[in-house]
Amino acid sequence: MTKPVILTGIRANQDLTLGNYFGAILPIIDMAKKRSDEYQINMFIPDLHSFTTPIDHSTLNKQIFDNARLFAAAGLPLENDNIHLYRQSYIPAHSELTIILNCFTGFGEMSRMTQFKEKRTTIGEDRTSVGLFDYPVLMASDILLYNAKYVPVGDDQTQHLEFARDIAERMNKKFDTELFVVPEAVKAQHEFFGKDQGLRVKDLIDPTKKMSKSDESGRGVIFLSDAPEVAYKKVMGATTDDKANIQFDRTNQPGISNLLEILSLLQGLTLQEAIDKYQGQERYGDFKAVVAEEVKSFLTDFQNNLANVDSDIITAKLEKSERELAPIANETLLRVQQAVGLRPRL
Ligand code: ATP
Ligand code: MG
Repeated sequence: MTKPVILTGIRANQDLTLGNYFGAILPIIDMAKKRSDEYQINMFIPDLHSFTTPIDHSTLNKQIFDNARLFAAAGLPLENDNIHLYRQSYIPAHSELTIILNCFTGFGEMSRMTQFKEKRTTIGEDRTSVGLFDYPVLMASDILLYNAKYVPVGDDQTQHLEFARDIAERMNKKFDTELFVVPEAVKAQHEFFGKDQGLRVKDLIDPTKKMSKSDESGRGVIFLSDAPEVAYKKVMGATTDDKANIQFDRTNQPGISNLLEILSLLQGLTLQEAIDKYQGQERYGDFKAVVAEEVKSFLTDFQNNLANVDSDIITAKLEKSERELAPIANETLLRVQQAVGLRPRL
């Protein structure tokens, strides 16, 4: 395969919010669809990464499968052969390359990783696993095995992407210039994907902060798993203001502005179209009911789609991608094994 590779790890579960849906899931699916003619799209479920911090293992297996279901329900075209969907642990080369790269990675360099330092503090020394420490090396393996050029990452992962570039260059220099394809630098990644458009769905109760899945009360958060009726009530209870005049004004009317934004997303309108349609109206109750109804029907449809995702089709897609990609990963692994002396050079 000669197409350049775009690679993204997708970790998701049903506790995602409306914000995650419009801010992350849909853009990833859009990107995959748009780029799949010119690029090979590798979307993988980072299952080995999911217990770098302690989890409930009795639900992991279901969770892994649900990740794939969720993307399918949101419109990922499973029939597109340029879009691969696979599970990290089903391609053992991820683990093997990690063990090798570990020996070329500095203890100090991993200790300085911000994510590690932060989590180490929050979860405590005794519960901090070596797996968490090693997270960036596994992530580098995920990327380098498939010669990926573009890897869309959020701010919290840029340091890890830089490490993937460092270790690739380090190995190329030490052994063989052709060993790894070095992924593009963060700046080039941002240029390629187009900087985050800044979409931030806000919390319904406190519309000055963003809607977050880890919000303590969840009262202002629409979860994809919310019963549609419950979500309806959450919207009706959204904080607004006393101006009795619908305007898009984030500073003075953050609640109404957020509802306008949510409505535009759900109705497939541009924000300006939504503003033109509703501005000047005075009855917030009526307006909220329109938004609430849209949220309710969106969730009803989404949950319906999710329930109807055919598990056999998901399994077939995962297995097909894993069959097709394992040889690519193994080819890279073999190059490395030869370089370090584990396998004879032919
Ligand atoms: P947490 O509270 O655990 O940080 P979160 O809801 O902020 O959860 P993240 O896991 O931090 O979600 O982010 C997942 C993805 O969703 C990121 O791409 C992020 O930019 C996007 N995202 C998160 N919240 C919103 C939001 N309110 N509006 C739009 N996009 C969002
Ligand atoms: Mg967050």
